[in-house]
Parts: sequence; C-alpha cells; structure tokens
Amino acid sequence: MSTLRTNNDTWDIATSVGSTAVLVAAARANETDRPDPLIRDPYARILVAGAGTGMWEHFLDASIADRLTDADPEAVAMFTHMLNYQAVRTHFFDAFFADASAAGIRQIVILASGLDSRAYRLDWPAGTHVYEIDQPLVLDYKAKTLAEHDVQPVAERREVPVDLRQDWPAALKQQGFDPSQPTAWLAEGLLMYLPAEAQDRLFELVTELSAPGSRVSAETAGHHSEERREQMRERFEKFADELGIERTIEIQNLTYNDPDRAELADWLNAHGWLASGERSTDAMRRLGRWVEVPMADDPDAFSTFVVAQKA
Ligand code: SAM
Repeated sequence: MSTLRTNNDTWDIATSVGSTAVLVAAARANETDRPDPLIRDPYARILVAGAGTGMWEHFLDASIADRLTDADPEAVAMFTHMLNYQAVRTHFFDAFFADASAAGIRQIVILASGLDSRAYRLDWPAGTHVYEIDQPLVLDYKAKTLAEHDVQPVAERREVPVDLRQDWPAALKQQGFDPSQPTAWLAEGLLMYLPAEAQDRLFELVTELSAPGSRVSAETAGHHSEERREQMRERFEKFADELGIERTIEIQNLTYNDPDRAELADWLNAHGWLASGERSTDAMRRLGRWVEVPMADDPDAFSTFVVAQKA
C-alpha cells in the first residue's frame, strides 16, 4: 500500500510525512499573497522559509504564473487545482471552527496539526484552548520558528507531541484536555497517511473522548486504482519536468491507498454522531475555484469534507 512507511516511522519537518506539512503551508502562503485570497495565513511563509530547500519553494514562487504560460495546459490546470484545493480546504475548516466557537465550544483539538497556524491566526474567543497533536519535531519546529518571529498564539495553545498510532489520549489528557467538555476536532491532511484500521481506531478514540455537543471535522482520503495512480504519477512527472520542479517528495509513496477504508460520514453516523459531508469538488465550485483536471471523471479520487456533531 505505502512503500515508504513502517508502523513506527518518525520524521522531522523536512523529511517523510513531515515535509507534506511544509507543502500545504506553502500553498497557504501562495493563497495569502493572491489579490483575492479565500484565506489568510500570515505565518505560512515564515514557517516554510525556515524548513530549508524543497519542492515547496515552487509553491511560494510568485513568478511561477509567468513560467506557466508556456507550459502544457494540462500541467497548468493540475498546478492551479492543487493550490485551489488547499485554499478551499483551509477555508472550509476555518469556517468549521468559527461555527464551533459561535456555538460556545472552547476546547479544540487539531490532530496532525503540522504547520497549521490556526491557534495563532483565528479569532478565538477568550478561554479557548487549542491542543495540537503531531510528532514532537514537527511541533517543536513550528513553536520555535514562530516564537523567533515574536508571533504569539491567540488561544491558549497546548502541544501534545505524540504519534497518533500511540496512546495519544493519555498524552492529550496529560496536557489538560477535559473529556467532560465539548470539543471541536479536526483531522485535515491526515487520514491518507493512516492505514484504514488506524483511521477507525482514531475515530473510536475521538468518540470516547467527546462529550455531548462535540463536533468533528475531517478531510477524507480519496481512493485511486493502481492504474489511476500510475497515470497521476506520470502526469505529475511531466508537469514537474515542464516547470523545472525537482521531485524531492513522492507523496503517493507516503499515503495508504486502502480500498476498504470506511466511508467516514457513514462510520460516524453509526457511532453516535450526526454527520454530513460536502465533496471537495462541490466546495471548489461553490467558492469559484474549480478547475477541470484530467481525473475529474473519477469521483473516488477526490476527498470529502465531513462535519459531525455528537448528540
Ligand atoms: N493538518 C496540517 C495542515 O493541514 O496544514 C498538516 C497536514 S500535513 C499534509 C500531514 C501532517 O500529519 C504532518 O504534520 C504529519 O507530521 C502529521 N501526521 C501524519 N501521520 C501522523 C501520525 N501518525 N502521528 C502524528 N502526526 C502525524
């Protein structure tokens, strides 16, 4: 399923799954610099800059649009789609947290927070605690880099440096998490890096730790046939060559493309939650950011943004 992963693998910000956090932060930096941004992440550029050299630099490069004019239109569409997708995804989950805060939830858990700067950039009501779970070196990099730039969190931010395949509920409680209080959870950019059974286990634990009134949100992992994966790999190679992008990360080799992964909304509905989802393709259209891409005919290839509330 995943050729570069083992059950106990670890990473820092610039390697393996850690580097994917830099890529998505670079996409947020790019969006923030647009004249019509869907989201603003003023810390993304700082966080990417400190992570060293990598593919992500191309996402930051403002001149890339000029270089794209001579590129194959398919490559342009894929690159634009990739950036738009990240902006729409961030926008969706920013809105989820705004709604949860408006509903009075003051306990937030961001699973696999990576370089997510929401604890620093969203308008949290007083008394909000944001728990961030990720691998120790990832959390450490973010906190140190932002502190060096005198950036302070808006909410009370608590780090939970633990792998989500280990006993993270114990680590979360140790940092002060209170399971008797309603919580708003987020799993964004995470589920594709977990095998199917680890996804189920994750949401079993989230369910156990969620008081009535809690909310959960997640980006589901799309599924691709092996043939489709190969096509995507070839297209990406062509597109990277055209743009002069050195392929330092093979994301496909870090993800688990499990065909029997549970449909998350169905799973939540069967486990005490009231869940619904918006297909990411629909969210992109709703926000005026849809671009036709070669795999548009394959609905399974795209994620869904799921939200749920516990009775
Ligand atoms: N959620 C962040 C965002 O959207 O900006 C980061 C997404 S990034 C694509 C994937 C993140 O998942 C990385 O920060 C990585 O360290 C984290 N991650 C993946 N598997 C993990 C695990 N088993 N335990 C802890 N963190 C994990």
